[in-house]
Amino acid sequence: MLLIDGKKVAAELRQKVKDDVDAIVREYGRAPHLAVILVGEDPASQIYVRYKEKACEEVGIVSRIWRLDGATGQCALEKLITELGASDDIDGILLQLPLPRGLDVGRCLSLVNPKKDVDGFHPENVGRLSIGLPGLKPCTPYGVIKLLEYYGLSPAGKNAVVVGRSNIVGKPMAMLLAAPTPFGNATVTVCHSRTADLGAACRQADLIVPAIGKAKLITREMVKPGAVIVDVGMNRLPDGKLCGDVDFEGVKDVVSAITPVPGGVGPMTIATLMSNTVEAFRWRREKPLCP
Ligand code: NDP
Repeated sequence: MLLIDGKKVAAELRQKVKDDVDAIVREYGRAPHLAVILVGEDPASQIYVRYKEKACEEVGIVSRIWRLDGATGQCALEKLITELGASDDIDGILLQLPLPRGLDVGRCLSLVNPKKDVDGFHPENVGRLSIGLPGLKPCTPYGVIKLLEYYGLSPAGKNAVVVGRSNIVGKPMAMLLAAPTPFGNATVTVCHSRTADLGAACRQADLIVPAIGKAKLITREMVKPGAVIVDVGMNRLPDGKLCGDVDFEGVKDVVSAITPVPGGVGPMTIATLMSNTVEAFRWRREKPLCP
């Protein structure tokens, strides 16, 4: 069984980004700037933003955090997103989700300048992904593809099952796996909470990508021997430990490759955010998204 080492692959990707940032500084006289907007006090979001800040520091990207009060109104948030979109000093914009209740996430995301949309959630980038045009891709699913690529685990011609259909993970994951690209070309099934027989769907899969948010939902009986599992799920157990959507101990002897949680997809998400920030910097200057 191959234990897919997300920490190692992410460290290599961050090193590559650092080299890219150094080259940008030499060429343009400044590093890429990432603007992070954090609204309210959600404890998990505070932690994620701290990780992102630290990762930026490591690779030489300049990050600036806009910490807004939880009572911030829609208008004030929209004004900030629009101003950052127009500012020549800002290369990437990240709106940390979830937003406090009462704020319109869809409207905010669609106001992010698509060329600075490092999360790949703007409708233009979603559209670009769906029709195979270059664009900024959502960090988590793109990180999954990079893991498969690193280990030469090509999904081409294989049956892939994505469990989850969220806009940020499941849907873009399915699109990337089905795309006619070197690490796409899979035959993809998307499962969700209304899937009649999740076990039957998973048992025919050569590759399972669970993005559910339910600890250990995917068990040994649901996995075909030799399957590859890339577990996106991150769940906090009552004892405080993190675990994925897969019963790792139960399946580890039947799979051919699997990611651990933590140490699998999580580090890739942040490393991909760093590489997306460099992409956004270059796209605006060297290869405009909208010629
Ligand atoms: P969402 O809650 O938005 O989506 C969960 C999906 O799982 C939904 O499509 C839901 O179906 C489906 N689902 C729920 N219960 C079942 C079930 N019993 N059987 C089949 N499908 C089910 O979550 P996200 O997509 O935002 O995140 C998913 C997981 O990935 C979470 O654990 C999250 O913490 C983790 N995550 C990890 C990241 C990382 O970097 N490692 C980054 C982002 C997320 P329906 O649509 O019908 O409700």
